[in-house]
Amino acid sequence: MTPAPAFNKPKVELHVHLDGSIKPETILYFGKKRGIALPADTAEELQKIIGMDKPESLPYFLSKFEYYMPAIAGSREAIKRIAYEFVEMKAKEGVVYVEVRYSPHLLANSKVEPIPWNQAEGDLTPDEVADLVNQGLREGEKAFGIKARSILCCMRHQPEWSPEVVEMCKKYRHQGTVAMDMAGDENIQGSSYFPGHLEAYKEAVRSGIHRTVHAGEVCSPEIVREAVDVLKTERVGHGYHTLEDEALYARLRKENMHFEVCPWSSYLTGAWKAETEHPVVRFKNDKVNYSLNSDDPLIFMSTLDTDYQMTKRDMGFTEEEFKRLNINAAKSSFLPEDEKEELLNQLYKAYGMPLPPAAAAGQDP
Ligand SMILES: [Zn+2]
Repeated sequence: MTPAPAFNKPKVELHVHLDGSIKPETILYFGKKRGIALPADTAEELQKIIGMDKPESLPYFLSKFEYYMPAIAGSREAIKRIAYEFVEMKAKEGVVYVEVRYSPHLLANSKVEPIPWNQAEGDLTPDEVADLVNQGLREGEKAFGIKARSILCCMRHQPEWSPEVVEMCKKYRHQGTVAMDMAGDENIQGSSYFPGHLEAYKEAVRSGIHRTVHAGEVCSPEIVREAVDVLKTERVGHGYHTLEDEALYARLRKENMHFEVCPWSSYLTGAWKAETEHPVVRFKNDKVNYSLNSDDPLIFMSTLDTDYQMTKRDMGFTEEEFKRLNINAAKSSFLPEDEKEELLNQLYKAYGMPLPPAAAAGQDP
């Protein structure tokens, strides 16, 4: 019954949350095993309660994590397993390279203030969480034959965690962690300027840690400008509202900024109003550097193919555009240059495209 994939070729995904990509069966398993109450007894019921299928608000979406994070957070076994299963999920979707993000603090129960999800204090620190996720990803890579790297998230409302996040990025940069992100509620006034965030992003620049930031998903282009000018981000998570400031949009196009677009997510969170043209259509027409991503498939009851189907069916996206955006995603990935070139060559080959003389030199606008 599953329809043929909209783009049945190797894909690159750059914006997907580990804690938004867990199998309902796994949540149920750990809820039972650890004696943690969940709102349902079967995977189907649980999926219905956690999932969304019509447009709501970003805060409503964020409230979904409360249901199931207590079953996973604080468990070494659960954290390693969700990372491993994530790689399996992506391999099935035809993804050959993925960068998966999460907040190590939100999966810990020790050395984190406040302790999230009403957990009792335990002995699992954010630092060990980062290590466990990388272990699970590595085991998944071996088992399923694709490449997976991690991005560690700062949270807008917890600036005091951010300096620890950048230190973990430095510590685990050779174990699979490739960058730092900022997630959470971008409505929090002045959050781009919170000293903890400023300090962490400055340190990331200083030590060569790659940077992305959720910005302009639901808020004004000003947040995008702050992400670029204040936090020195190299990619923009979502960034739809950039289009409300033509001068900023023109500048970011000129700078070949990469936009991590999540179409189905933007519909359900209300970041995009369905009666208007989706920003990704403008990005396509202007040949902007962007990617297509699933964001939180558990909550959006989707796969990466949902985003490809949606753009193909409703927005007229072609096979050629899918190839172009995946090549841009590979070029804007946070892999080291030699691995980036390898990934690009893999895509050129699979897409039946000639290898350019210097495959990884610069990014085509
Ligand atoms: Zn996101």
